[in-house]
Amino acid sequence: MGFCVAIDGPAGAGKSTIARLLSKELSFIYVDTGAMYRAIAYYYLRNGIDVSDEEKVIGKLDEIRVNIEYDEGVLQVILNGENVSGFIRTQEVGFATSTISKIPAVREKLLDLQRELAEKNNVVMDGRDIGTCVVPDAPVKIFLTASTLTRAERRWKELKERGIEADLSTIEEEIKARDEQDMNRKTAPLRQAEDAVLLDSSDMSIEEVVSEMKRIVGEKWR
Ligand code: C5P
Repeated sequence: MGFCVAIDGPAGAGKSTIARLLSKELSFIYVDTGAMYRAIAYYYLRNGIDVSDEEKVIGKLDEIRVNIEYDEGVLQVILNGENVSGFIRTQEVGFATSTISKIPAVREKLLDLQRELAEKNNVVMDGRDIGTCVVPDAPVKIFLTASTLTRAERRWKELKERGIEADLSTIEEEIKARDEQDMNRKTAPLRQAEDAVLLDSSDMSIEEVVSEMKRIVGEKWR
């Protein structure tokens, strides 16, 4: 059985950045479950399939194979044999992902792979339901959050750095809508596990968050 650091939280809380850095420091592997869901949503978008048509989404699920690989330690998402890591980070894919991830059959499809990864390796795994559903007995659970405005500002900055101009209030609205959808779905909704440590990163730097997480992990991992 591997040692699992489960990090859950809303969109844009900095989970992936933090989880990646933390995994490096601990020499654990990083498993970005959001990227797996994103790859599935990307398949539908690319093939012109309406993601809100649940029946169609379920009907096409068998055509999809998602896997992850590591290229010099950096996680790559493989969709039907193709590396799609460079295409799945857009707001459009993000929202479509939130729509398809409500469907139990979609979640079921990724659950075994996620559990197997946590079983065989020491992992830092981030997502929405890691501590509540995927690895409920994870020895370390962290719920990472930040104010909606902080999260929107971070995303805005990240887009700007990639040369994409975006409107801050639109980003904030999109983040709110996605959280709303993730928190209110029936299957594996986004919520803090009872035994998770709550970490609000609104006024913390990336380094501070990583170091606080390392301290939390250090209490359990010797
Ligand atoms: O974390 P990220 O923004 O990449 O996640 C994209 C979407 O994937 C989330 O908004 C959520 O709907 C879905 N997701 C999920 N369960 C996870 C990880 C992500 O439902 N464990």
